[in-house]
Amino acid sequence: MPIFEYECGKCGRLFEELVMSAAQKVACPSCGSADIEKLISRIAKKCSGCASSGSSSCGPT
Ligand SMILES: [Zn+2]
Repeated sequence: MPIFEYECGKCGRLFEELVMSAAQKVACPSCGSADIEKLISRIAKKCSGCASSGSSSCGPT
C-alpha cells in the first residue's frame, strides 16, 4: 500500500499517511490543517523489491 509523506504548510509538521485512494483527504494530525504538501516518501524507496532488482522504482511494471 502506498505511504506518502506530507509536510504541513501551517505548522510545518512532517507526517506519513497511508493513502487508499487518490480522492482521500489528508489533513495534518497536529493542527488539522488541509494545507499540506506531499513529499517524496523515503519509505517507498526502501522497498525490498527495489533493492534486489536494482530498479529505482517498484510495483507492477
Ligand atoms: Zn499542521
